[in-house]
Amino acid sequence: MSRRRGPAEQIRDLFAGPGSEDYLGEDVTQSQHMCQAGALAESAGAADELIAAALLHDVGHFLGELSGHDLMSGTDNRHSHTGAAWLSQWFGAGVTDPIRLHVAAKRYLCAIEPAYAAQLSPASAHTLEVQGGPMDQEQVRAFEAEPYFAEAVSLRRWDDAAKDPGAATPTFEHFRPVLSRLLAGGSVEARH
Ligand code: FE
Repeated sequence: MSRRRGPAEQIRDLFAGPGSEDYLGEDVTQSQHMCQAGALAESAGAADELIAAALLHDVGHFLGELSGHDLMSGTDNRHSHTGAAWLSQWFGAGVTDPIRLHVAAKRYLCAIEPAYAAQLSPASAHTLEVQGGPMDQEQVRAFEAEPYFAEAVSLRRWDDAAKDPGAATPTFEHFRPVLSRLLAGGSVEARH
């Protein structure tokens, strides 16, 4: 990708390009899925950083050498880590950490909440096994000690709910002001 394109344009290109493909085994596209997750965060009154995290949580599917299709066929593409690392060029931990932890949050919720595991979509239940299955007790404790533990769990629940082909879905452009506010805030500079 050209270095001269700004972050919002690079992100928009992902939504308009690879994001327009089907979302692994679900009835919405990847972009619809991410925009629905962002809208659910917004409706819940989440802060800008967490709305952006929900909106961008799956960009790692488009960035690594392994795709979401590899994940579905049995090889973990570690999309949570790939996406968080790419976004850390521009965003702070309030955006990137819930994204990095959103797969772990599924493994966590499956360990502590039997009803959660039962409501996973078939595709999500399938990838759970590829991603390591439910956490053990030690992993649960370590996860609860993460600074963005609560945000990661919230993001995960929006992620799971954001697969509704009948839901009114805002476009990527709806979220531009949120991204602009975060990018103007210099969250990356603040970390250097
Ligand atoms: Fe997702």
